[in-house]
Amino acid sequence: MPELPEVETVRRQLLPIVSDATITAVEVFHPKTVAYDTGIEDALVGATITTIDRIGKLLIVSFLNRADLFLLIHLKMTGQILCADQTQQISGGGHTLSETDVSDLPHKHTRVSFSLNTGVTVYFNDMRLFGYCKRATATETARIKATFGPEPHSLDFDPKAFAQKLRRRRTPVKAALLDQTLLAGLGNIYVDEVLFRVGVRPTRRADRLLAREALAIAEAAGEILEAAIQVGGTTFQHFTDTGGQAGNYTDYLKVFGQQGTQCPECGEIIKKIRVAGRGTHYCAQCQK
Ligand SMILES: [Zn+2]
Repeated sequence: MPELPEVETVRRQLLPIVSDATITAVEVFHPKTVAYDTGIEDALVGATITTIDRIGKLLIVSFLNRADLFLLIHLKMTGQILCADQTQQISGGGHTLSETDVSDLPHKHTRVSFSLNTGVTVYFNDMRLFGYCKRATATETARIKATFGPEPHSLDFDPKAFAQKLRRRRTPVKAALLDQTLLAGLGNIYVDEVLFRVGVRPTRRADRLLAREALAIAEAAGEILEAAIQVGGTTFQHFTDTGGQAGNYTDYLKVFGQQGTQCPECGEIIKKIRVAGRGTHYCAQCQK
């Protein structure tokens, strides 16, 4: 499942390819992806893309000549965004990519495509159909944005205010950190990594954290997401050059997916349990 760093990487790489380009055609291969919106083609054709913003894992495309039109894109579990230029050079990102994902586009998992006046075609592939590309008005977009908490690596993030809110939650700290209304952007993988870095067990109740522990969580969340974004660039690549996905933040994970192996800090065996319904990894020696 693409997490925030992968989505941010897609955003950063997509932006120079699509900004200032005008949509010349929209082809919907599966109506669910566009929320059964039969007017989406008419609404988008002729619209010039200005920018792509992101909040949490939601991408928000805005347009120069359509003040009340936004395109909301969520990759959910298996979404991918791929771009093909006139020479069929393909680049893309999102859910783990394989050779078959990028060959012969559009293919059976392509749900919608956008042709641009630059000759580039943008494909949204989504095997499981949980993702979406749907239009929204300015009011709807603002309402959705308001449901997200602050992002730990954004410039206006206030660690003290976050720490206070976190310490009022009467749930396991892991559950609190997964709640996107409290903090936007930490998914299952990165919550486990943050809690390992600060030495806090995922099952600890958030309201029993010390103030310094809550502050350390805020700091580590920003650092780990930023580090993941820095290496996330490798998930968006030219397949004609490299032929597949190589190297990303998974190479740096200390506890997530490491159950049964030795803790890199102390040598204790990493445990896997369930917290908040999610597979959760921790070191019983390092995390209290
Ligand atoms: Zn350890």
